[in-house]
Formats: sequence, structure tokens, C-alpha cells
Amino acid sequence: MQKPSKRYNSRDPKSLRPATRLVHGGSLRSDFGETSEAMFLTQGYLYDTMEAAEARFKGEEQGFIYSRFSNPTVTMFEKRMALLEGAEAARATATGMAAVTAAVLGQLKAGDHIVAAKALFGSCRYIVEELAPRFGIASTLVDGTDLGQWRAAMRPNTKTLFLESPTNPCLEVIDIAAVARVGHEAGATLVVDNVFATPLLQRPLQLGADCVVYSATKHIDGQGRCLGGVILASEPFIQTHIHNFLRQTGPSLSPFNAWVLLKSLETLPVRVAAEVRSAELIADFLAQQPHIVKVLYPGRADHPQHELAQRQMLGNGTLVAFEVAGGKEAAFRLANRLSIIGISNNLGDAKSLITHPATTTHQRLPPAARAEMGVTEGLLRLSVGLEDVDDLIDDLAQAIAALDRPKTVVGLR
Ligand SMILES: *Cc1c(COP(=O)(O)O)cnc(C)c1O
Repeated sequence: MQKPSKRYNSRDPKSLRPATRLVHGGSLRSDFGETSEAMFLTQGYLYDTMEAAEARFKGEEQGFIYSRFSNPTVTMFEKRMALLEGAEAARATATGMAAVTAAVLGQLKAGDHIVAAKALFGSCRYIVEELAPRFGIASTLVDGTDLGQWRAAMRPNTKTLFLESPTNPCLEVIDIAAVARVGHEAGATLVVDNVFATPLLQRPLQLGADCVVYSATKHIDGQGRCLGGVILASEPFIQTHIHNFLRQTGPSLSPFNAWVLLKSLETLPVRVAAEVRSAELIADFLAQQPHIVKVLYPGRADHPQHELAQRQMLGNGTLVAFEVAGGKEAAFRLANRLSIIGISNNLGDAKSLITHPATTTHQRLPPAARAEMGVTEGLLRLSVGLEDVDDLIDDLAQAIAALDRPKTVVGLR
């Protein structure tokens, strides 16, 4: 049997620049010397002897035990994500929601208190507002952009703060460093859902957050295939709050999905950079169009937290929100006319996708809560993909032009 050459695993990946880390970091090359990382579709592992099994279970010997705990392909994905984020440790999960649930509930017990920004992904809001209180964990929701509200919400039993920035769907930007300080002064941790920014455009751990979570389903896969999630933090945070929670409750990432996500990381910087360039052009294009009364994009000077976004983020993001005059009827008509941009609540895909938050992702919220978050009837959220930006702009232009014409047959796309 061929033995692997040592030369390919000899460089410390921390000495490499980010794009190189994303191609080479975390590889566990087998004896076959494969160029592409291997997919280990196995549930379990063999031990040479009973003594070896005993030693592995006691932690006296390193190695894999069972794929609910860890798996070589999943480990490669975790190591590459940790290198990208600059985190000491990472744990992969089956979905982004499994990552959020573990990151938040893994820290809490009955009698504790959590404070979260109101503008949260729908399922995250369910965890904070409905699930946690059922187990005796009190929660307070605040306007994430108002530091005074974060401060006022702190109680002696506040254990963790939770936010996403930019937010879904209005792309508000929250001051992560300032919220981290408020939390730390009160003895609480901060968890940041960094999906909308991507790991490339915002570094919450460097800004003071204690834990970062991703839905890898979004830009990390980036091609609309696999669900996945990941939790990143210091080694002590992972050991104290996450490690056992995940091992015993079992939201493990499948090795197949881990392999897809691992390979996707190789192209993440190229994809995100291209999508950001297109999003910038599309935001400026939309701002000049008739019928479009508002464009929300952190890169534009008219964004309410533009200055903070420039300070806190390393790029403007791949999502653009905009409001169509004429409410739901006009927003539906515009979106129904699009022929390249697809109608989907998903985001971070190579394919550009558009959604109407008020009737989809945010329809469960009472109208008052929607209004408070800026989710109006005319609001559309566009996730910019990898198509030629001129085709995307042409598609939007013809759909906007159609708003001037009398209403035609519905359902034509
Ligand atoms: C999609 C998403 C999630 C949930 O991720 P899943 O992979 O769908 O479970 C959480 N937070 C944000 C901001 C998201 O966009």
C-alpha cells in the first residue's frame, strides 16, 4: 500500500492567506494520497483490540468512535471553517437551526434570561420567544440597533445575548462590538448569527462576540444543494456549552453534506466577491428606478447604518432589499414578471432569488410586529447570485417597466 508523502501536510495552515486556507486547510489526506478530500460515508470505526476500544473511550487514545460524535469528512469541514473564522474550535450541525439551537440553549438552564434582537430569522425568533420560555428561560426582545434597549434589558440572570447582522430582511446593521461590551459588563455572552454577512465580510469574534453560528445552507454551500450549520467559538466555550449538547442530542452533519460544504469553501471567496460586486450595481440601479421608493443596502450612503456598516463589515453583502410603490399587488406583479431571478425564500445561492417577506418568511408574525421591523407590503428581498449582472439588471428593468402597463393575466412568468 502506498504511503502518503509528508510534504503536502507540512505547512501550518495558519501561516497561509485566507484564500489558500480555504483550498488546503483542514485536509486529512488518507494513505492513497488523493488530491480531492475523501468522503468517509461510515457510521462507525474498527478498533484493533478491545484494549484499543477501551483507550479510545477513555480519551487516552485519539481517534474516531462514532459518526454522531465525529467523522473525518465532517472534521475536515470543521477545521477549514475554524481557519476561515479565526476560531479555536468549530462544530458542524445538520442545519443552521441546529447550530442556533445548540449555541443558545446549550448555555442556558431554567431561571436564566436571554436578550435578543427582534429582527431575527423566523425560526430563531421561535427558539427565543416560544421554546426557551417553555423550559423556564425568560426572554426579552429589543430593537437591535438601539443600544439603550440592550442595556435596559439586562438582568442579574441574563446569560446570553443573540443577534444577527445584517438582519433579515431589512438589512439593518447592529453594532456587534458595542452589544458585546453591554453583555460582557453584565456577565453575559454574545452569540452572532453571521449568515447574511458571510464569514468573509464580517468577523464577529474579532469584534468581541463569544460564539458565531452559520447556516452553511446559504453562501457556504452557495449552490442550493445541502443543508448544514456550524458553530464557532473558543475551545473552552465549545467544551463547556456545545460539545456534550451536540454529542448527546445528535443533530450531526452527514459526511456527504460535509464533503459538499468542504469543497464549496474552496470557491467561497470568488463567489462572494462576484455576488457583492453585482449586488452593489443592482442596489444603485434600483435606487434610480420609478416605482422603487426605497432601497436598503449597507453599501449605499442612504442606508440608516451605512457608517457603522463601513466600519464593521469588510464588504457590503450579497442581499438587497427594496420597496415597491403600490404594496403587495405591485410587489407581486414585479416578481411574477421576472424570468431569470427565481421566486424563493432561500438565499445565498448561485441563482438569484427574490422573496416577499410579508407573505412568506415573516407571515407568521402579527402585522404590528412586521411593521415594527419594517417588513412592509411592498418590500422585496433579493439574493444576488452569479449570473451576469447585466442580465439581472435587464430582468429587473423589464419587470419594473411592466408596472406601468395595465394589469395583465396573473400567473404568467
Ligand atoms: C437560513 C437561516 C437560518 C437557518 O438555517 P437552516 O440551515 O435553514 O436551518 C438561520 N439564520 C439565518 C439568518 C438564516 O438565513
